[in-house]
Amino acid sequence: MTAGLDAYAPFVGRATIEELRLLGERLRGRRVQHINSTAVGGGVAEILNRLVPLLLELGINTRWDVIRGGDEFYAVTKAIHNALHGQPVTLSEHDVAVYRETTEQNLRTLALSDDIVFIHDPQPAGLIAGRAPGSHWIWRCHIDLSAPVPSVWEFLRPTVERYDAAVFSAPQFSRTLPIDQVLIAPSIDPLADKNRELDARTIESIVTSLGLDPGRPLVTQVSRFDRLKDPLGVIEAYRLAKKYNDCQLLLVGGSATDDPEGQAVLTECRDRAADDRDIHVVELPPTANIEINAVQRASTVLVQKSLREGFGLTVAEALWKAKPVIAGAVGGIPLQITHKYSGVLTHTIEGTAYWIKQLLNAPDFARHLGENGREHVRHNFLLTRHLRDYMLLFLYLGHLGQSVITLD
Ligand code: UDP
Repeated sequence: MTAGLDAYAPFVGRATIEELRLLGERLRGRRVQHINSTAVGGGVAEILNRLVPLLLELGINTRWDVIRGGDEFYAVTKAIHNALHGQPVTLSEHDVAVYRETTEQNLRTLALSDDIVFIHDPQPAGLIAGRAPGSHWIWRCHIDLSAPVPSVWEFLRPTVERYDAAVFSAPQFSRTLPIDQVLIAPSIDPLADKNRELDARTIESIVTSLGLDPGRPLVTQVSRFDRLKDPLGVIEAYRLAKKYNDCQLLLVGGSATDDPEGQAVLTECRDRAADDRDIHVVELPPTANIEINAVQRASTVLVQKSLREGFGLTVAEALWKAKPVIAGAVGGIPLQITHKYSGVLTHTIEGTAYWIKQLLNAPDFARHLGENGREHVRHNFLLTRHLRDYMLLFLYLGHLGQSVITLD
């Protein structure tokens, strides 16, 4: 099912939809090309899958291309990704040659003639070499660039500086650059299986099938089994809170079979949980969107105790379900949670335990946090806001071109 724009009116109001249509009229016929490195899997592809049809509905001539590359290229771009995130990785001369060679191959096969070219992340960044005169190029960075490995950033920087604008998800993710920088947070789709309303029976049957007791308080963290998401810290916090409050803990994460570290973290969680029947460590396939939706809705409190984070979409997903969220004050999470207003920000295991206990004991306050969180997401992190921001950026870039003509 692909819902059209009108289907979003019940969430954001008619006026928002009309505003989008007005912006669309100003951009009618403009040709926009999105390019990323995968058609399926990952947040970028998920967002483009929804944004592209909606941009088309608004009259913007939008297409989406995916670059092609071999295993070696993707190994290099994964290394670049990790280095930009600050992990100690360096690039060899061979790596650089592989990156340049694949860029050249894609330059030969991709038509790059649209008015606006929107390049997502570092993999296709080198395509700027094929820029047509008069076109506008945007580099959309989904990565936290606040502390990259200097040599890898120096490799990418001259390429990024050739763009008209760079888009980041959070202010602290950006670098000092001589080009325009724009803050555009990601978004969630309220109509997706992950977020749409579910009836009570579906929720209960999923919760029961996972071995949880629907009648008792449930504390949940949804995330990959990654040390930076601190699942062991969540178990410690639960244990501290459990001394005072009856509750169950659910750690639910994607399949970790192709990630050796993920598998190790999953095993550690299972070992750490072995002596407590109320701790449930569950591995789900990446397609388990309705299951994730159901466990988020069934939870009394959601935790996202990340030590480092990108934007943290799980927080937006939980807040949209009007749930009280306790989350680490890292990455994009403080954009989503104002402490004690739309959720709770914590820095330690003890702090997380304290707030689990507090929220289990104060259901009215917890409900308040959740309601405020849902409104915050409604205004800031739904797909319609994302669409508007992109269209405003397109208009701004068009205006840039016009003012150059006027000044000349
Ligand atoms: N997710 C999922 N199944 C899982 C674990 C995570 O579908 O078992 C989803 C989660 O709902 C969210 C995304 O993966 O939409 C994770 O995004 P986030 O920004 O929170 O963290 P990342 O994994 O990108 O670091």
